[in-house]
Amino acid sequence: MFHLRLLRRIKKRTPNVPYLDNKETARALIHERLEHFNKHYNFSYNRVAIRDQRRCWGSCSSKGNLNFSYKLLFLPACLRDYVILHELCHLRELNHSACFWEIMAEVMPDYKSRAIQLRHLEKTTGTAVSNLKQIQINHSCDICF
Ligand SMILES: [Zn+2]
Ligand SMILES: [Zn+2]
Repeated sequence: MFHLRLLRRIKKRTPNVPYLDNKETARALIHERLEHFNKHYNFSYNRVAIRDQRRCWGSCSSKGNLNFSYKLLFLPACLRDYVILHELCHLRELNHSACFWEIMAEVMPDYKSRAIQLRHLEKTTGTAVSNLKQIQINHSCDICF
């Protein structure tokens, strides 16, 4: 029993290798896209953290901190941009009100179809890096090239 608990604790502390290998690349890419979209809005934000979060692609705090999963690196660019813009717009509206979606639509009029594609991907492919990489290879759309 003690052993198992100890093992679990070690496992928790052991850094995830794909995360360590990719987080700086993800950070650079996400920063670049944030700055690109923010030319339109000029919102101010504090810290941008790249995390290994199992459940969500990104989040925004009331303090203006943005968090993103390093796995955004392995999403098709059109869906990655959707997540990045979504969190950026939460700096203005920290909810999913009609107003929030209007702000998003200023830059991404097709946000709805991207949101649907992302949910579909989560349900069918899941968020394992190996699966996402495969999707990325096979992906083609009018936006990504
Ligand atoms: Zn949201
Ligand atoms: Zn695409």
